[in-house]
Amino acid sequence: MLFDVIIIGGGPAGLTAGIYTSRARLKSLLIERAFPGGQVMTTEWIENYPGFDEGISGVELSQKMERQAKKFGLEIIQGSVARLSLYDKIKKIELDEGQIYESKTLIVATGANPMHLKVEGEDRYRGRGVSYCATCDGAFFKDKKIAVIGGGNSALQEAIFLTKFAEMVYIVHRRGEFRATKILQERAFANPHIKVIWNSVAEKIEGEDTVNTLFLRNVKTKESTRLEVQGVFIYVGYNPNTEFLKGLVYLNEENYIVTDEKMSASLPGVFAAGDARVKFLKQIATAVGDGAMAAMAAEKYIEENF
Ligand code: NAP
Repeated sequence: MLFDVIIIGGGPAGLTAGIYTSRARLKSLLIERAFPGGQVMTTEWIENYPGFDEGISGVELSQKMERQAKKFGLEIIQGSVARLSLYDKIKKIELDEGQIYESKTLIVATGANPMHLKVEGEDRYRGRGVSYCATCDGAFFKDKKIAVIGGGNSALQEAIFLTKFAEMVYIVHRRGEFRATKILQERAFANPHIKVIWNSVAEKIEGEDTVNTLFLRNVKTKESTRLEVQGVFIYVGYNPNTEFLKGLVYLNEENYIVTDEKMSASLPGVFAAGDARVKFLKQIATAVGDGAMAAMAAEKYIEENF
């Protein structure tokens, strides 16, 4: 079956692209490997997405976007992309289970996955105290002590969320200043259940069945300390999900997809939107903008080439 547009990835960028292409009456298919929503699904509360003045939960926002896209006829299937053939005018997308879908255009909106710290004990205790998702795992840490590693928006936002459960949340940051936006910093500093440990890096995570100790090193004094915690939440940035595009379209040195301002990647008929592409600001608001732009650029491409 030939589609006008195939979208890979069901976060805000992909779902928005789907809303726009479906409303433009283009035959559209969205392939999502897990469940629609992407990173937003693992964000407890969103308060900087316009239109929701009281804020909205990540799950609810994702479900609303999905319902809106389906209402206009977007077909959504679950599957993982194994291979792409993009050089011909008709693109072929092969899934892990062998199904092959054909399309006139492709929009890649695969987002990014949390980076690992790569310290001893991280893999061993993953799911047994080490986590990358406060929304998913926070409730297991009621009245416990937790370390959050990182100094960006994710680290601070999730540390504040974790104080709903934990007795104490230590934010461990490698520098003496946060990267996160000022309003999150103000909230973190004002929260009696948050203590910041500056200029420190994690060296090792230890425990028995589950985590009980985080070993830290102060990068200035070189002093090593142990922190007794039952949980370690890691928020040190994201890696784009672009592995399957290597050698096909132009990626930058960090593997983000390079596009022009119309979201065109380096091959005709291939577009990218959201966190997987090179961009200045990774936000739901900008992902949504990318999705709309990619959809309209795909429509124009089809008009001119088919
Ligand atoms: P980020 O902004 O890249 O921040 C990563 C943090 O981890 C930085 O503080 C960095 O330290 C630290 N870090 C990186 N590698 C490390 C390592 N090996 N060891 C220790 N610390 C390390 O990532 P993010 O916070 O996940 O955010 C990703 C994007 O999503 C950003 O564009 C962010 O603005 C956006 N976002 C927005 C919101 C919101 O608007 N509410 C919420 C979440 C995320 P340095 O500062 O020293 O580099």
